[in-house]
Amino acid sequence: MSENTNTSISDEERQAYLDKFGVTPADANHDILMQMIEDQFANGLKTQVEPFPETDREFGKLLDELRPLSADQLREKLDISGWLLEPYGEDQMRCQECMYYLVHKRWCDLPELDLPAKPEWWCRLWRI
Ligand code: SF4
Repeated sequence: MSENTNTSISDEERQAYLDKFGVTPADANHDILMQMIEDQFANGLKTQVEPFPETDREFGKLLDELRPLSADQLREKLDISGWLLEPYGEDQMRCQECMYYLVHKRWCDLPELDLPAKPEWWCRLWRI
């Protein structure tokens, strides 16, 4: 097992979270995490929406990229998963219909993400 040295955030990023929210993502509650996610996009975050993983292998590769990330690496999680704050594509896919979405908790239960999500949001790990 390789010790991943890339699972922490920079001191600068940590301080920015603390200044704005009083906590980092790892210690944030549901509401604060929602705000942190929206804040990333308000600050211009562009995520890797494409390519959509068409096969189990491609899907698994994305999970492999996400798995080593720490809870504080929120931006990286959003980026790799191709997260959006709106439905996506012709079919207007969204979290609400995804098999990983816990409607009542407003939560993405995919272990590699494990983040709050609004029903109309989406990411490229969407599955039914
Ligand atoms: S996997 Fe993606 S689309 Fe599905 S609930 Fe999680 S964030 Fe939403």
